[in-house]
Amino acid sequence: MDLKQNIRSIPNWPIKGVIFRDLTTLMQDPNAFRYSCDIFYDRYKDKNLDKMVGIDARGFVFGAVLAYRLGIGFVPVRKKGKLPHKTIEQSYSLEYGEGILEMHEDAVTPGEKVVIVDDLIATGGTAGATVKLVKQLGADLLECAFVVELPDLKGREQILGCPVFSITEFE
Ligand code: IMP
Repeated sequence: MDLKQNIRSIPNWPIKGVIFRDLTTLMQDPNAFRYSCDIFYDRYKDKNLDKMVGIDARGFVFGAVLAYRLGIGFVPVRKKGKLPHKTIEQSYSLEYGEGILEMHEDAVTPGEKVVIVDDLIATGGTAGATVKLVKQLGADLLECAFVVELPDLKGREQILGCPVFSITEFE
């Protein structure tokens, strides 16, 4: 299945010059959504993971499905101000803007084997900050997984030392 057919491209959103890859059209299509979740599941089913770490907000969708199917816990990494308990935080820069990501300080424990998942990696700032949070808590990070990678933006270079897996790419 060519998942790109199920991803809507929105020119000049949220700012002029950016082509936004809209994965809501993939998620609302039952075959495309199941197909992408199955690719992730097959990749991680024998890896003895302890937690899936999902990035705010579409990473929660894929991460929660995977955690359920793998029989492991799900951990949300959220934009600042959303998590109620004690957090650690990391600032990051986006393709358009800046922000701070937070994670509960007890969300993963040292040595737990985790994968980070999000819908898309662009410049890698978001994933890079999440990698730092997970490593700060001492987790054993297997890799970062994305449905879509935009290789021209060289996001992988923000998470050197951490393998990156993506299902499909847009130039
Ligand atoms: P990065 O930090 O530049 O890699 O941006 C990735 C983050 O922004 C992810 O959480 C994505 O959900 C979101 N994002 C950036 N560009 C797009 C896009 O074109 N489509 C969907 N999400 C995007």
